[in-house]
Amino acid sequence: MNIALIAHDKKKQDIIGFSTAYKHILAKHTLFATGTTGTMISESTGLSIHLFQSGPLGGDQQIGARIANNEMDMVIFFRDPLTAQPHEPDISALMRLCDVYKIPLATNMAASEIFIRALDRGDFQWREIVKANLKQDAKK
Ligand code: PGA
Repeated sequence: MNIALIAHDKKKQDIIGFSTAYKHILAKHTLFATGTTGTMISESTGLSIHLFQSGPLGGDQQIGARIANNEMDMVIFFRDPLTAQPHEPDISALMRLCDVYKIPLATNMAASEIFIRALDRGDFQWREIVKANLKQDAKK
């Protein structure tokens, strides 16, 4: 599965802790992240992560583009709800695209824990079916 990891600045230590705790699960998947988040997680955990631009420089939009192409299966987004973000429109657009394409989106640690355990149990295998069906439709 293709998983995107994003954390606002005040949540970066939280996502590092989360990624460390669930490294054994995350390591089985293809990971993507906004620039600073991904760099910090990979330095702390050794996980291999495809890096997009930093969020304020377009990273959230790059992840959104992958969602629009049906190339992202889950978004784990540790949002900071108490700090204004300069790229708020990009964040809203990303979350909107998750809803448009029915991509599982966790926006805090509690939801992320549930997602990661469900991921490990195989609860998100339906994404492979959706992707396979879309590929078949494209061939018609
Ligand atoms: P960053 O971006 O990982 O580059 O800090 C995250 C964000 O604020 O969207």
